[in-house]
Amino acid sequence: MNALKIWYDGELVDAQEAKVSLLSFGLQYGWGVFEGIRAYRSNTNVSVFRLKDHIERLFRSAKILGLEIPNSPDELCQAVKETVKANPAADYIRPVAFAGEGSSLSLGTLDMPVHVAVAAVSMGEYVPGAAERGIEVFTSPWEKPRWRAAAVSAKICGGYVGLIMAKRDAMQKGADEALMLNSSGMIAEGSAENFFIVKGETISTPSLTAGILGGITRDTVMQLASDLGYAVEEREIVWDEAVSADEVFMCGTALEIQAVRAIDGRIIGSGSPGWITKQIMREYSDAANGRIPKHLAWCDMIEDA
Ligand code: PMP
Repeated sequence: MNALKIWYDGELVDAQEAKVSLLSFGLQYGWGVFEGIRAYRSNTNVSVFRLKDHIERLFRSAKILGLEIPNSPDELCQAVKETVKANPAADYIRPVAFAGEGSSLSLGTLDMPVHVAVAAVSMGEYVPGAAERGIEVFTSPWEKPRWRAAAVSAKICGGYVGLIMAKRDAMQKGADEALMLNSSGMIAEGSAENFFIVKGETISTPSLTAGILGGITRDTVMQLASDLGYAVEEREIVWDEAVSADEVFMCGTALEIQAVRAIDGRIIGSGSPGWITKQIMREYSDAANGRIPKHLAWCDMIEDA
């Protein structure tokens, strides 16, 4: 990829020097947790968006897994900033904490060291052209696992295998993204995005109990939409409602906010990004770049990065 320096177990090293053992638990079994964070660059500074919230979620995911991260949240926030400075073109940051090589490959092994790395790469648009066209989604044949089948509220490395399968399946069908339903047939989320519908002046999104990740972008959208005076609700949403909504959009750190143009070939609204979606997209960009005074605390500013 295009990372220059990676923060690895406490120091910045050349990206090609940051290596893991082939026998690490992280690689063999996906035993690790990660985050994805965006950095927004201007001529004078870089805004790392909702850094503390992402690092807090990393620790929550680790708690759920039972992985002991050897650093403090403050140290990892600092590590993210150092890594952004050391990678002048980076706009996407990937902290990961994972179990290394232990004394055995038995699933019951407990003596693995926990490694922590922070990489920063240049990602650009997650779906090129999405802001103008919107994205197309297909309902996935893969179900969003229920609570007792997977820790869906955590970003666990191994948990992403099913999500990659869903995303690839949607892409093979010519779509940009998968729409995953839960075991009750309710809409859950995309492979790495939360889901919203707009009807009139009301904006609705599946509740956390649909079996979704509590997205930080989702939270941002809910706050910005309320600031703009819209009614925002978390509830069960079925496919029928989504395809007949006025507007649909998905959001996540990597995708940011993008209109959904079509679901399973049904065109949503006029087929191009709707007015309310575009308003929230603009508001999000202002918030992420530190242009909304009320939400400045969301931005960790790095000068001269
Ligand atoms: N759902 C899943 C499964 C995800 O992996 C992500 C990306 N982290 C999201 C939703 C969106 O979350 P966020 O807005 O915090 O990036």
